[in-house]
Amino acid sequence: MSSQARCPKCGQIDMVLKVSALHSGGVSSTEYEVIVPIQLGSKITPVSSKRVGVSQTELSKKLAPPPKLEPKGYAVYNDTERVLKTLATLAVCLGFVLAIWGQCANLATLGGQGLLQLILGIALVGCGGAYIYFVTSRREKQAMAVLMPRWKRAIARWNQLYYCARDDGVFIPGQNRFVPVDQMTDFLYEK
Ligand SMILES: [Zn+2]
Repeated sequence: MSSQARCPKCGQIDMVLKVSALHSGGVSSTEYEVIVPIQLGSKITPVSSKRVGVSQTELSKKLAPPPKLEPKGYAVYNDTERVLKTLATLAVCLGFVLAIWGQCANLATLGGQGLLQLILGIALVGCGGAYIYFVTSRREKQAMAVLMPRWKRAIARWNQLYYCARDDGVFIPGQNRFVPVDQMTDFLYEK
């Protein structure tokens, strides 16, 4: 039974709560209510109990699940791609200048003299932008293919976590390991 998760540090069950339940509580008050499993004779009964001191919001923040990964910053580019991306960025900037310049010339002369610059500018912005988009999305996809399984594993472990309020740490029942709250993320991503 899940409420019988025993803390490997103190060997007790009375201050143990499921992390996912604690996290979703998130009430912003210094006094909050928790459901504590209490042993009455041979029976274990969940009892509502008032706690003061630790703000649940704070604790809830500390016990938050690993955040969903954003591919930004994880994409890895090779040297060629890096050079081409820089050139593409320059092409986009140059393209904007040319397009605006061409359009201003158009408006000034009313004769379409800036049409070539306008077309060239739009083409540069389009090509540069398209290259940046394709190389970035391809590399980000590759990065996510590596990161996603790790994140899913971390989430799966987080869903198994229990918190002991007495010792301010977490554990997975049956692992006989106790991890302080501030090391929870490392523990979840551990290989
Ligand atoms: Zn404990």
